[in-house]
Amino acid sequence: MTILFTLLFGIIIGSFLNVCIYRIPKGESIVFPGSHCTNCNHPLSSLDLIPVISFLILKGKCRYCGQKISSRYMLIELLTGVLFGAVYLRFGVSLEAAMYMAFSAVLVVLTMIDLDHMLLPTRIILFGVGVGLFFRMLQAVIYKDMMFIGDSVLAALLGYGFFWGMFYGVKILFKREGLGFGDVRLMGMLGLYLSIPLVLFTIFVSSILASIYGIVLCYRKKASEPFPFGPFLNMAAIIALFYGDKVIVWYLGFISF
Ligand SMILES: [Zn+2]
Repeated sequence: MTILFTLLFGIIIGSFLNVCIYRIPKGESIVFPGSHCTNCNHPLSSLDLIPVISFLILKGKCRYCGQKISSRYMLIELLTGVLFGAVYLRFGVSLEAAMYMAFSAVLVVLTMIDLDHMLLPTRIILFGVGVGLFFRMLQAVIYKDMMFIGDSVLAALLGYGFFWGMFYGVKILFKREGLGFGDVRLMGMLGLYLSIPLVLFTIFVSSILASIYGIVLCYRKKASEPFPFGPFLNMAAIIALFYGDKVIVWYLGFISF
């Protein structure tokens, strides 16, 4: 029963994330005005705004002007639902579950905006940093252990420092920008929610994922096309969150033979 509730909760949050993804890069308010069709500007009633269900009932078209609505809105709602469900299965009903649901929500917004605009808005990253620090402080108070703050700040500094070095290293050696500075900030934010081993895991896995994508682009003769790195970082951070510890334990067992 709780899992259904979590899925539903994620789907509802996902419909709010759609608004953030669409409006934040345009500098618009995320609360005002209320939702309206992006084609005919007709205000949407609450019947048009039921996540997933409205889309299916309206067969993916605006009720007022008939303009096709991209199915990506529904996919983002479902993705958020699935992420929240997975966090619940991994962390149960806990402070950590709340922290990682907020974390997933921030990652969904950053990933989509980076895919759309090749941009990681600093204020969303700072929001993620604020939320992360808030939860780490709560953990420190509730479990009476300051290490929750110490460890995560160290992991954040490691992530930020590593990418900061890469950013300037590439700039000086190759006279071009490999990473964007947004990726440097993002890596710092990710560290706050992970741990030092998981930060290293995330850097490693994101480079592999991006290299595979780079090879695919080469194969399609689009090698010179720049692509955003943020989505790979976020994907790797999610993999780290759910499987990182298991992979690290397996790897350590493997090399000790
Ligand atoms: Zn319309």
